[in-house]
Amino acid sequence: MRKELIDELRQRHPRLLGPTGEPATQPSILCGDGWFNLLDCLCGAVQAGADAKGNEDVRVEEIKSKYGSLRFEAYGLSPAEDAQVALAEALSERTCEECGAPGSERGRDGWVSTLCSNNSAHS
Ligand SMILES: [Zn+2]
Repeated sequence: MRKELIDELRQRHPRLLGPTGEPATQPSILCGDGWFNLLDCLCGAVQAGADAKGNEDVRVEEIKSKYGSLRFEAYGLSPAEDAQVALAEALSERTCEECGAPGSERGRDGWVSTLCSNNSAHS
């Protein structure tokens, strides 16, 4: 993901993603630009759920792409927030990681990625 988008996510969701604290304590965000909206919505929902319960202990460890799917590693989530993460991860498997269009699993350079079909620049 481009640095501008990562910075925007951190600014929009400072308690989950930074920018407070030492850089080393910020969770890494390693996935494509196409999942920005998924992550933005997921972080908003998780933070709202935690706030509603007064839960201050939610901590995001790492955000990455694995086998074409979003992996949102976090601690302190309630079952409801776990379900939100599962939903976002399932949607990521149908969302082009590069551009956010509807996509499906495709092989690329020996890796499995979720990509759309209407942009040959991805493959
Ligand atoms: Zn695409």
